[in-house]
Order: sequence, then C-alpha cells, then structure tokens
Amino acid sequence: MALIGAPTDVGAGRRGASMGPEALRVAGIDKALSRLGRGVIDRGNVSGPRNPENPRCGDYRHLPEVAQWCRHVHDAVYESLTAGEIPLTMGGDHSVAIGSVAAVARYCAERDRPLAMLWLDAHADFNVASSSPSGNIHGMPVGVMAGHGPPELVGLAGFVPMLPASRIVEIGVRSVDAMEKKLVVESGMVVYDMRRIDELRMRTVMEEALAYVAERDLHLHVSFDVDFLDPSIAPGVPSSVPGGPTYREAQLCMEMIYDSGLMRSLDVMELNPAFDNENRTAELAVELVQSLFGLQILARTGGEADKYTL
Ligand code: MG
Ligand code: MG
Repeated sequence: MALIGAPTDVGAGRRGASMGPEALRVAGIDKALSRLGRGVIDRGNVSGPRNPENPRCGDYRHLPEVAQWCRHVHDAVYESLTAGEIPLTMGGDHSVAIGSVAAVARYCAERDRPLAMLWLDAHADFNVASSSPSGNIHGMPVGVMAGHGPPELVGLAGFVPMLPASRIVEIGVRSVDAMEKKLVVESGMVVYDMRRIDELRMRTVMEEALAYVAERDLHLHVSFDVDFLDPSIAPGVPSSVPGGPTYREAQLCMEMIYDSGLMRSLDVMELNPAFDNENRTAELAVELVQSLFGLQILARTGGEADKYTL
C-alpha cells in the first residue's frame, strides 16, 4: 500500500483540509495498516500551488490551482498503481479525487479492466458552474468524472468521461443543491441517499451496491468523504450535515466493502483538523480505514493479533 498526501484546500470554501494528511499520520494511519499485515509505504505529500492570498470568486473557483493539484495527484497515483501498490490518497478537499480517479481510470483503460466507484459522502458533489451556489470545485468532482465541467479537469485521464455515471454509486447522500438535484436524477448514477439507508438498512444497501458493480476483474475505487459520517461522531469536516451513518453503520459499510474483495484504491477526503476535537475524527477515519482493509471484531487477517481477537 502507498499513502499519498494531497494537502490542499484550494477547492473548498472553508480552509483547513490541507492539514488532513498530517492529521491522519498523527492518528497513526501507517501503523494501523501495518498491524493488519500490510506493507505500507508513506510516499509523502504531493505538492501544488498555495491557496491564493486574495481568494477569488468564479464559476469554477481557483480552477488553475485545482487543475494543477489534480494533475500532480494523478501522476502520483498512476505511478503507485503501476508499481503494483494500492494507493490511499489522503486529502485535501474532495476536488483532488478528480486526480486520483483520473489515474485509476487511465490505469484501468490501459489494461482493459472494468472500473467502478463507490462515493461515500453527505453530498452528491455533482455540481457544474451553473448549478453551484459557490463555484467551489470540491462540490463538483463526481460531475467532472462523469464528463461535466471544464476541459482542464474532465480530460485529465486522456478520455471523457473518465468514469461514466452508470459506474458510480453514491452512498450516504443527504445534501444536494437545488439545481444539482436535476443533474443527479438525470445522471444515471445509483444513489443511496439517507432515506434509502433508513428504509433498507446499511446491510441491504451495501449488498445491492456491491452486487450492482461486481464483475470479473473489477477495480473498485472507494472515495470516502469523511462528512459521510454523522457529525456527532465526526465533527472534523468543514461542511457537516446531520443525519449521517452511525458508528456501527459506517463500520458495517467498510467491512462489507472489504468482504467483497474488490477495492483496489481509496481516497480519504475532507478531513479538516480546524473543525475537529482533539483529532478524534482523524482517529475514527483511521479505524474505518482499518475495517476497509480487513480488521474484524473476531477474525485476524495477518500481522499481530488485533485487540479484539479472542
Ligand atoms: Mg461531502
Ligand atoms: Mg465530497
């Protein structure tokens, strides 16, 4: 596995996600994964432009800076995949997922491998300039991946769309901008909003979602926006929305992704220590990442015995 930091908040309206990678390191993400018997290499941080001293407004706010970050993240993630690693991209605001997914899309296309993505998020992140109230690109990455947005971003994988909407499943959504709703409904994405999670329960949602994407030799990319979680357990995000998955629902979601055996790359995004309480959101994110990589309550998957082993 490779840890790749993308310390930027240039795509967000509220600053601080640039501290996310370091907060995950302070919470011990490398050791937590090593304890599961994984070889973990911390490849350090990708670099990119600083937040402008005079923040600009615009249809696609800070587009040149976001595009440069995404190109650099793309290069690092592509290199990691080519080296046979499982890249874990640590944001950073969620706009940098455009870079990681572009790399995964390019890597899969070159190998003729099917690709699908689970997007765990309180937000649909499907805005375009005309639907976005703010112009903040961290509210647009899924739309960009599906082919809607400026050419600097939509073309990052070398083909458009880098990921058709039909290959995207969103889980946990509970905040969609007024004009974004139409785009989401018409997109062809499968969306499990919180009402569907309430009605079906997380187990059925994950069974359905994983069955929908599963196919032979699939590369599953998981993009985990930490605001997916209920703010009562995860305050360290800039745009928290009440009514998210509980601790156990989130754990079950991650455990079932691991059980599927399909995940080949991961983002952990939007962790913002400026909103956190003694790094507890980072620590929770690390716990959930452990579940994504096989930590179970009773079973051990290698390495030293975990604390729950009987
Ligand atoms: Mg979000
Ligand atoms: Mg997001």
